[in-house]
This record gives sequence, C-alpha cells and structure tokens, in this order.
Amino acid sequence: MYDEYHLECDCGSVKFSLSGEPKVRGFCHCEDCRELLKIPYHSVTAWEKEQLKVEAGAESVAVFQHPTKRMQRFYCGTCGETLFNSNAMDWRIVSQLLIRKCYDGELPLPLQSQMHFFYGRRIIDIDDSLPKRD
Ligand SMILES: [Zn+2]
Ligand SMILES: [Zn+2]
Repeated sequence: MYDEYHLECDCGSVKFSLSGEPKVRGFCHCEDCRELLKIPYHSVTAWEKEQLKVEAGAESVAVFQHPTKRMQRFYCGTCGETLFNSNAMDWRIVSQLLIRKCYDGELPLPLQSQMHFFYGRRIIDIDDSLPKRD
C-alpha cells in the first residue's frame, strides 16, 4: 500500500522521502543509539542509503559526526530536529516517532516494529509481546 513515505522536519525546511521496504523495523537497545541520541532505546526503521532522498532543503541539512564511532546524526539546521542518523553500515536510520508525527500520529503498518534487538544491552525492561533478541 505505502511504498513511499514523505517526511519533513518541524519547520518544514527539509523534506525527504523513503521508498520501498525498510531493512529493519524494531526497537534497538544498543549503546550506540543511546549515546548518539541520548535516548533509552531507539524506535528504528533502517534503510539503504539509496532508499532515502532529500527532496527539499538539502542546504539546511546539518551533520554531526560522532567523535569516535562511525555514526552521524543528520538534523535540520533551522529547527534542530533530528532527521535521521547513519550507522557503521551507512544505513539510514529514521525514527518511528518522526514518521508517526508526519502521518497524523499513526505509524503506517508496514513500518511498525517486529522485534526488540540488542535486548541484552538494554537499560530498561519492556513488557510487550514482541520477540526479544540479543
Ligand atoms: Zn526544520
Ligand atoms: Zn542501536
């Protein structure tokens, strides 16, 4: 049904799209996500670099390079909102929360989480029915 998703930051300066199916969709409990984003765990959709296209406002996209890890955080230079981040495989990681916000508060079904991963590294326990992998 949805094979293309259109997202934008809070101020609308940056617009980008995602196409096809995400490589991964789930909750990530690894320390890299925690450290890069200062969150207890990350609600991710992960995409190949080529699946994400910045369609407007490329000049407003600012990049934070993590000092030691092969990770970057891309954010809007005007409103400061995080757009996505990259990992060591150079995937594009887009928060389910941003997608939800751009879709009237509802995450499209094909993007909903299927599991928790790196659960052994968690700092918070989750009581739900999704599979949990270390
Ligand atoms: Zn913005
Ligand atoms: Zn992670």
